[in-house]
Amino acid sequence: MATGSSAAAAAARKLEGKVALITGGASGIGACTARLFVRHGASVVVADVQDEAGALLCADLGAQGASSICYVRCDVTVEPDVAAAVDHAVARFGKLDIMFNNAGIGGDGCHSVRDSTKEDFERVLAVNLVGPFLGTKHAARVMGRGGSIFQTSSLSSVRSGMASAAYTCAKRGLVGLAENAAAELGRHGIRVNCVSPAGVATPLALGYLGLDGKEFEMQMEAIANLKGVGGGLRAEDIAAAVLFLASDDARYVSGHNLVVDGGISVASPSLGTPTD
Ligand code: NAD
Repeated sequence: MATGSSAAAAAARKLEGKVALITGGASGIGACTARLFVRHGASVVVADVQDEAGALLCADLGAQGASSICYVRCDVTVEPDVAAAVDHAVARFGKLDIMFNNAGIGGDGCHSVRDSTKEDFERVLAVNLVGPFLGTKHAARVMGRGGSIFQTSSLSSVRSGMASAAYTCAKRGLVGLAENAAAELGRHGIRVNCVSPAGVATPLALGYLGLDGKEFEMQMEAIANLKGVGGGLRAEDIAAAVLFLASDDARYVSGHNLVVDGGISVASPSLGTPTD
């Protein structure tokens, strides 16, 4: 029987013995999640197209004592790259338990459906929707019995007009992908979910909106529904939600879209808010 302190240690390391692959893991939400997963005992493969940032992240975690993290170059729009990244995780760490389809792009920043180009629409769908499809397909191929697959969707999966048509279509498509895959893969013990963040100050969001970190923070604070929680939404908040989806705490959660937005999507500011 576990002693009090060993049970507490196990609870503190929620991914002990698990193997995770994170696409778009070299930056922003993916990098923050990689750090948290390693702290919770997982072996992590970081897959990205930013080789230098990916290598730096692994070196940094290695210097802190983590031996079970590595980087692979993987363009999520290229099926052999995705298949190879998945196979690399299995070859290096013996299996794959967790697939985080997180790589994404904002597109060219054009919000107008009238001015958007077909090329940009197709590129956003290729990275943000086809990439996660390939990740789901190849992760399910090696997972056998049991596993957790999840994608980074967006607040745009439940609210319109905040991003381009391409981005919104891709992020809504991810909810369909997760639900369909959850329905199909449940019989193999594989859970499939989405996490849907509101705005987080990452290179993607800052570049898309053309803002610096301070301006972004001020805009997010202005539209935030949740006040008094010590600042706006951070990558750490998304990583914590993802840790839940990855871990056995969520053992019966599948086909779910976990919106992490402090309630923006359910508030109706134009109607006013009830007061005490
Ligand atoms: P980020 O720019 O910090 O990270 C995105 C990562 O994806 C980068 O490392 C980039 O190199 C990688 N990437 C891009 N194209 C790729 C490709 N073809 N193959 C492999 N990797 C590729 O931005 P982030 O905000 O951390 O984005 C992570 C995910 O979160 C994205 O799917 C994004 O759409 C989603 N998201 C972000 C926000 C936000 O406000 N930051 C909100 C909702 C959803």
